[in-house]
Amino acid sequence: MSQILIIYTGGTIGMMSDPVTKVLKPINFEQIMDNVPELEKLNCKIKVHSFKEIIDSSNMNPEIWSELAGLIESHYDDVDGFVILHGSDTMAYTASALSFMLENLAKPVIFTGSQLPISAIRTDAKENLMTAIEIANAKKNDRARVPEVCIYFDYKLFRGNRSFKYNSSKFEAFRSPNYPILAESGVHLRFSVNDIRHPGEASLILHKNLVNEVAVLKLYPGISPKVVAATLNADVRGIVMETFGAGNTTTDQWFIDLLKDAIDSGKVILDISQCKVGTVELGRYETSKQLKDIGVANGYDMTFEAAVTKMMYLLGQLDDPKEVKRLLEVDLRGELTVS
Ligand code: ASP
Repeated sequence: MSQILIIYTGGTIGMMSDPVTKVLKPINFEQIMDNVPELEKLNCKIKVHSFKEIIDSSNMNPEIWSELAGLIESHYDDVDGFVILHGSDTMAYTASALSFMLENLAKPVIFTGSQLPISAIRTDAKENLMTAIEIANAKKNDRARVPEVCIYFDYKLFRGNRSFKYNSSKFEAFRSPNYPILAESGVHLRFSVNDIRHPGEASLILHKNLVNEVAVLKLYPGISPKVVAATLNADVRGIVMETFGAGNTTTDQWFIDLLKDAIDSGKVILDISQCKVGTVELGRYETSKQLKDIGVANGYDMTFEAAVTKMMYLLGQLDDPKEVKRLLEVDLRGELTVS
């Protein structure tokens, strides 16, 4: 019989309303199990690892990502797939980070959670959990059907590093506008076979070291030299710059000079768009030509979540900013499409 490891980190799925304060607070996994007797009926064995500290995912951080990735590695040979119960707020960040940390992944790592606690009458948690387990357990010709880090939510399976939390109040919490969904569940569970990545024969490599020396520069008309300089001069090694449209910025000389000084001092600047759909095309407009010339990295159609975690991952692997820049522009785990 196949085995699935459920790793419980926290999130609304396992929360209950405090009788006095009325705020939602995490509960332990046994209480979750009590709400899902269906777990007994599955045709696979379920093992559970509950984190010592159950958290709201707004408290997620790279240390916990390392712990999570290490846990997956240590159970990798014993189980057929993983389901990670996680709050939806930062789920796309954790899924993106793990996609980079787990190189050559050949087993499913399926993140899920819910918008309503599992004990709520109209909860979305049960469907999300049961189908996530089914996906983690799905095989064809003895091979996992989805050997990727994914998010399963509201009947859809997304590539983790292509998704972002889009809606805080509907069950349809996630979107992946620049990449097709990998599976959809309804009466049948249908996989989009041609969109799913399959690794080669190489073994899993775990990369635990993420470096959080990353700043974010979000542009807006009227941004002042003071604000841009403060961000670029922060004590960091990488800057994710959220630009307009197809990767465009002001052409004001002070702005280009500040970016150039930062790059010359050894910092890496990555250009991603504030648009959720479409791609950065450095050099298409006059307003991005100079960015390309001074050595800003092209983030193509990466999500913000993938951009930040990929930067942390590469800074943890490499000292040479030129190498970091080169690899930021390469599709490492299906996170971008080079156009
Ligand atoms: N605040 C919760 C969390 O991210 C929201 C959720 O689980 O959906 O932990």
